[in-house]
Amino acid sequence: MNPQIWFLTGSQHLYGPETLQQVADQSAEIQRTLAAGGLPAEIVGRPVLTDSGAIKQVMLDANADRNCIGVIAWMHTFSPAKMWIGGLDALRKPLLHLHTQHHRSLPWATIDMDFMNLNQAAHGDREFGYIQARLGVPRKVVAGHVADPTVVKRIDAWSRAAIGLQHLRSLRVARFGDNMRDVAVTEGDKVEAELRFGVSVNTYGVNDLVAVVDQVPDAEIDKLIAEYRDVFEIAPELLGDRLDAFRYAARIEAGLRRFLTDGGFGAFTTNFEDLGGLRQLPGLAVQRLMADGYGFGGEGDWKTSVLVATVKAMGAGTGRGTSFMEDYTYHFGPGEPKILGAHMLEVCPSIASAKPRAEIHPLGIGGREDPVRLVFDAAPGPAVVMGMADMGDRFRLVANEIEVIPPDEPLPNLPVARAVWKPAPSLSTSAECWITAGGPHHTVLTQAVGAETLRDFAEMAQTELLLIDERTTPADFSDRVRWNQAYFRLARPL
Ligand code: MN
Repeated sequence: MNPQIWFLTGSQHLYGPETLQQVADQSAEIQRTLAAGGLPAEIVGRPVLTDSGAIKQVMLDANADRNCIGVIAWMHTFSPAKMWIGGLDALRKPLLHLHTQHHRSLPWATIDMDFMNLNQAAHGDREFGYIQARLGVPRKVVAGHVADPTVVKRIDAWSRAAIGLQHLRSLRVARFGDNMRDVAVTEGDKVEAELRFGVSVNTYGVNDLVAVVDQVPDAEIDKLIAEYRDVFEIAPELLGDRLDAFRYAARIEAGLRRFLTDGGFGAFTTNFEDLGGLRQLPGLAVQRLMADGYGFGGEGDWKTSVLVATVKAMGAGTGRGTSFMEDYTYHFGPGEPKILGAHMLEVCPSIASAKPRAEIHPLGIGGREDPVRLVFDAAPGPAVVMGMADMGDRFRLVANEIEVIPPDEPLPNLPVARAVWKPAPSLSTSAECWITAGGPHHTVLTQAVGAETLRDFAEMAQTELLLIDERTTPADFSDRVRWNQAYFRLARPL
């Protein structure tokens, strides 16, 4: 897929062909400036729109075009907005309303009525804003001159959200076994998920996977072991008396990859309670597949698996990582309170601070042979964690801005990959708010995209998002939870 954003310029016939040509030329210049900002999608200019028939047609074309991830609309002059009703009503792709103008500075000494009539987005875009608000069209409004890097940055954030949504719309998730018994938050309505997000979630017997794993040829395992030796530190016993376990871990990776590739799956789940004929809980295999962009959730958590795949698509090309994560345990002090996050095995090496080390250790959970896993600390830097809960009548996303930091001390006895972070605005406020919202213990942790992208995504997917950041207080947050409860029930169509 070659992601494209269609750039729609609104005007009307009133101005005559000469002015409309000027409009088209200036719009093309604005598009070139945006493209030069390094957006993750190609900007594709469409002919200037001057009547309702053409407007509706371009929206229908955008809906049908596989490469089109969304549309940017800008009313260069004045485009009477009743012309846009049919088109906006038909549009099913994300919309960004860019409120800008061609000139940065007013030509004070020379400005005349012709200049004013050509450059009247200041009110043309307000007319357009009215009709979008009246129709209740989900969209992002970005105002400013396109030479301002902030404007490009905000469009970049939106573009990444749109890329994630596009990925989600055709995502297929394979669940190996069901959810962990008795766990509440990993459950959810898969029918609603397919309607709301387009993702299809289906279950396979874990022994369907085992059959594929058992048939992996030895030569393929040899190749993988050689690759592991190239890219990871390897604990010596894995190449000595535990080589058989190491080779079996490689066998799981090859088999799992084949199963997912053959079925066209972009995400999956496992459940340690349901491993069938698998000799190890998949650790290394899950880590390797996540690093290649696959979504994953442990304990049958398909909602988090969906989020991991979606956010990975958003972050493609940034060189920064995204992983499945779980809040594990706290450090209340001394020093600043912080969270230690990890999972039994399955943390994605795309967030590693240094070369991961393949190790083998016993695992009490799962009742299988010792699993191989990659061990590392997460790279320090700003990040966001986000989780999804099913509230019964809708999905709720909860997100928290965090700062990943190095552990206070080395963790020589902790045989799993982990991340240590300070949540904004503080551990206590973050945890109080997260728990008030009913946010899950499983999350996606991303260093590749920021909270703005996640907010844009929630708007596009018309899904509730409660964000905890530097400005959050528990009292305001509780109010928001309560108001959202009312809003989302009222906003729900019959
Ligand atoms: Mn878990």
